[in-house]
Amino acid sequence: MQYEQIEEDFFIYIEKNEGVMETLTKFCLNQGIKNAKISGIGAVKETEVGAYDTTKKEYIRKKFPQVLELISFEGNVTLKDSVPFVHSHVVLSNHDMNTYGGHLFETTVAAVGEFFLRKFNGNAYRKLNEEVGLPCICLEKKV
Ligand SMILES: [Zn+2]
Repeated sequence: MQYEQIEEDFFIYIEKNEGVMETLTKFCLNQGIKNAKISGIGAVKETEVGAYDTTKKEYIRKKFPQVLELISFEGNVTLKDSVPFVHSHVVLSNHDMNTYGGHLFETTVAAVGEFFLRKFNGNAYRKLNEEVGLPCICLEKKV
């Protein structure tokens, strides 16, 4: 990977055959980033996405081994068990320009992975919400 930083903004280039979630998570850990917003585009392969079944309280998972365009990656960083946790959703497209999308578990860069990360100096963290069945964000103020 390569990166460039200006103040709280990071331009991140994830290179061919690098795992996106793994790279971003390690980057946040190494940079001491606790909260952030991340967006990105590129071309990926070996992707696993999911959709959350709110009744069963588990993810329906689907794997896409083929090369797909990464149309949009939108995510955030919070602390989970005191370490940075990247939560992201993606829209992908195939060579017929049809799209797939979902909660991203992991994907590998097939050509390029171009991301922007905006650091947020907050203390947002996740805690298991029994009703939802997922570790949900906890923020400073509740109204
Ligand atoms: Zn999600």
